[in-house]
Amino acid sequence: MRSDYCGALRSADIGREVTLCGWVDRRRDHGGVIFIDLRDRDGIAQVVFDPDTAEHFTQADRVRSEYVLKVHGRVRARGPEALNPNMATGEIEVYGTTLEILNSAATPPFQLDEHTDVGEDVRLKYRYLDLRRSEMQHNLRFRSRLTTAVRNYLDREGFVDIETPILTRATPEGARDYLVPSRTHEGKFFALPQSPQLFKQLLMVSGFDRYYQIAKCFRDEDLRADRQPEFTQIDIETAFLDETAIMSLSEEMVRQLFKQLKAIELGQFPQMSYHEAISRYGSDKPDLRIPLELVDIKDLMVNVDFKVFSNPANDPKGRVSALKLPGGNHKLARKQIDDYAKFVAIYGARGLAYLKVNDRADLDGGLQSPIVKFLPREVRAAILDRLQAESGDLIFFGADTAKVVTEALGALRCKLAEDLDLYSCEWAPLWVVDFPMFEEDDKGGLTALHHPFTAPSCSAQELQQAPLQALSRAYDMVLNGTELGGGSIRIHDQQMQQAVFTVLGIAEQEQREKFGFLLDALKYGAPPHGGLAFGLDRLVMLMTGTDSIRDVIAFPKTQSASDVMTDAPGTVDKRQLQALNIRLRAKEPL
Ligand code: ASP
Repeated sequence: MRSDYCGALRSADIGREVTLCGWVDRRRDHGGVIFIDLRDRDGIAQVVFDPDTAEHFTQADRVRSEYVLKVHGRVRARGPEALNPNMATGEIEVYGTTLEILNSAATPPFQLDEHTDVGEDVRLKYRYLDLRRSEMQHNLRFRSRLTTAVRNYLDREGFVDIETPILTRATPEGARDYLVPSRTHEGKFFALPQSPQLFKQLLMVSGFDRYYQIAKCFRDEDLRADRQPEFTQIDIETAFLDETAIMSLSEEMVRQLFKQLKAIELGQFPQMSYHEAISRYGSDKPDLRIPLELVDIKDLMVNVDFKVFSNPANDPKGRVSALKLPGGNHKLARKQIDDYAKFVAIYGARGLAYLKVNDRADLDGGLQSPIVKFLPREVRAAILDRLQAESGDLIFFGADTAKVVTEALGALRCKLAEDLDLYSCEWAPLWVVDFPMFEEDDKGGLTALHHPFTAPSCSAQELQQAPLQALSRAYDMVLNGTELGGGSIRIHDQQMQQAVFTVLGIAEQEQREKFGFLLDALKYGAPPHGGLAFGLDRLVMLMTGTDSIRDVIAFPKTQSASDVMTDAPGTVDKRQLQALNIRLRAKEPL
């Protein structure tokens, strides 16, 4: 139908006869001459019709935004006054000789270049129109180039692409399952995979040695800004490689992706222990572009006569830390400090104490703070020394349970960097290692920090004796404060797997019921193995510099996990429910 893509025309094409197909981006009538910006997947070309073309001119006069056209004409140079350096095709235009309307279009619910004026719900309801925007076209094409580059890399490294089931049993990754009722097995349900974890491990037992899959995963969670109920992972598993080899293989993949697709050199990724990340940055995915650090001052507060600080200082589960904002005295007004107090409240902090160092040399009049009167002079001096504070600095404090202080100051660190643009570089990748195997949940039970198939770096006996002390052989790749991927060396020994299940409070019968197939497989010559998975959506989001994960997914769900375009989830026919032997109860009043 066409000879060229609109967006591909350049001055080298001047003089050529071309046939273009595309959508009307804009139509302008300039004193008897009609200009049509015709858009296709490659961009926009300006087509001009003048009254000499008789009925084609009349047709051109009729077209409206988003009409679908086929246009024939000759490429010519634009006059000097009409050159548009902001447009890839800005040096040329097409003098149209024929125009065929292939389809008309109703008035679109929003002008594509005015998409920011409408709510995201409108964009998602008319997603097929929203996807016509050049930004969305760019994001999805970038995504496609990225997955191609991933496939090429893994293929070169000897990986085999293998699909794993979508209708399966629960795979615990810490979220709720999406369930699918079975018609043929009354009262039974499939679960959609939270990840292909167990299947990829079984593929190692089968001897495939190196597996990958660009895999859909499903997690029924309360959504946060960068989460989707269904999302895509670059899922990898290998046998006979230790963590050093797996990390270097996947680090090299990410390095090459950045180099090939963005011409960015990421260099060698540093490694940091989980403990160090939490204590210095208040996060297990620290953003190392930010030069601020948390400094613990718990020991200095043990004897102060100020319960807000001394209580957590004397509590083994407490934490007292400070965060220094160099030169912060002049950067933040009182109102902003109050706003930050509200911000940290989201993380459970009951306040945000601060201290302004007006004059470092004067420990009395030189320090301005609602709490300074509660701190003896030697404590003030010790705090300033430890923080290497200087005149003009602003210091924030956190004193509470370790969890609250870590999360609140960790988040404040990122918020300050964002608000005051404190970033010291553009890209800061790292590996976080030496994670604990387990964490305590609210009820005092233990949950796996990663998943229950992660190998500990100690013996089964040590694990059972002191589970909270046990470290795992897990590793997370972090970039600019975002977890790009994570994985571990797995348990390949049946007894060790059972020990972990037992520590997690999964009784033997339940172990058999839920994971009998895995425990059996581990008996039949399971090789040492390990792998990891990258969040593809997040990777694309970071590489395209997009703020929302929904802007890199063609048909995403809303924050409330629904699809407003197809209106899913939807109600189903009575007969369908009957076939599944399901009856809906009336919702009980709360
Ligand atoms: N299955 C893990 C996840 O989804 C990744 C891995 O351990 O390979 O986070």
